Amino acid sequence: MSRPRFIGYRCSICGTTYGPDQLLYTCTRDSGNLDVVLDLAELRKRRPGFDSSERSLWRYLPLLPVSDPGELGLHTPFRSVGCTPLFSPPRLNRSLGIRRLWIKDEGRNPTASYKDRASALVIRRALEIGVGTLVTASTGNAGAALAGLAAAVGRQTVVFAPRSAPEAKIAQLLVFGARVFLVEGNYDQAVDLSLQAVEAFGWYCRNTGTNPFTLEGKKTAAYEIWEALGQDAFSGVEPLAVFVPVGDGNIISGLHRGFEELVELGWIERLPRLFGVQAEGSAAIARAFAEGTETIRPVQAETLADSIAVNRPADGVRALRAVRRTGGAYLQVRDEQILAAIRELGRAGLFAEPAAAAALAGLKRAVEQKLVGEGDSALVVRTGSGLKDVPAAARAVPEATIIEPTLQAVEKAL
Ligand SMILES: *Cc1c(COP(=O)(O)O)cnc(C)c1O
Ligand SMILES: [Zn+2]
Repeated sequence: MSRPRFIGYRCSICGTTYGPDQLLYTCTRDSGNLDVVLDLAELRKRRPGFDSSERSLWRYLPLLPVSDPGELGLHTPFRSVGCTPLFSPPRLNRSLGIRRLWIKDEGRNPTASYKDRASALVIRRALEIGVGTLVTASTGNAGAALAGLAAAVGRQTVVFAPRSAPEAKIAQLLVFGARVFLVEGNYDQAVDLSLQAVEAFGWYCRNTGTNPFTLEGKKTAAYEIWEALGQDAFSGVEPLAVFVPVGDGNIISGLHRGFEELVELGWIERLPRLFGVQAEGSAAIARAFAEGTETIRPVQAETLADSIAVNRPADGVRALRAVRRTGGAYLQVRDEQILAAIRELGRAGLFAEPAAAAALAGLKRAVEQKLVGEGDSALVVRTGSGLKDVPAAARAVPEATIIEPTLQAVEKAL
């Protein structure tokens, strides 16, 4: 009876249900993403008090499909994922001309990206069912999250990343002790190879969207936003618009699920509008949104925002529904707009990697298109730290002045 609320899985495409004790990734019939099914009836009757001393996503244990981690990873980074700060930079807020701007700073997670939420849940699940080696394909952040948090609890990891991944992300993987394979190819090829390796070697697969527990971790940011902003942000009075950078589509699907559960539980009145932001050169989901279909055609991804460079999104259908079912929209942004957003976030004291800055670039487009106006509040998810990709940041700003070590030289340069 370790997981009383976890009933099983349901395919998001065909609705086939599966029991909770099977080791499952996607639907065996149609490869659809599996939703974890939770029994929330008890919670609807009696709202739990969340443990306020728990400054991590583990405070939401009553809403998670895994058992209490207990002593596992206590006093390690494994237990410090989530509960990230929410900022409201006044100047940036004024320049956007909206009612209130919020920035959820996911760069403050232990390995500096949103991916830590997913990896924490996947690792907990892996240890529950007693698997050995954990593996993931990654553009860099998912791998770092898996490797770092698994290292914290003494577990082995294998990561397949595209050879072109930013150097800092690769260094992070190696420092955390992962066995790293840099694939001569793109992220999608790294995904295919990782799935073959899982099949061949019996490893446990964390791949984003493929492992149902990634979404369960990612939904927890929705609870934090609700706790921080209160009910009014989810009523008719102050409708919230949430901006999320989208690659595979798992973060936006997770946020959707988290908010849906809060509605289901009667703790909020309505869902916030979810806006997905994709790079123009990697916009498979945004295109399907524009075409009004759920059929997602692969693209040849081309963008400097490596974390959202995806040809074949692993969680595209749920990511489309997240936006369609909340009255949001998909926006596409150019790489120059992403670089400009890195500068603007920097002026607010926030250093974002390109994919994270894309969310702000998307909000600016939404304001231009009058999807968000002066009466609206918007929340931008800063999904990863700028230290993850320093060369990209350098492209966003002018070079520093190099001078002789004399005051004269400073005066001359001023
Ligand atoms: C993974 C990632 C994203 C996109 O998340 P998806 O679930 O792939 O849509 C955005 N930003 C950063 C920094 C990421 O690491
Ligand atoms: Zn199915």
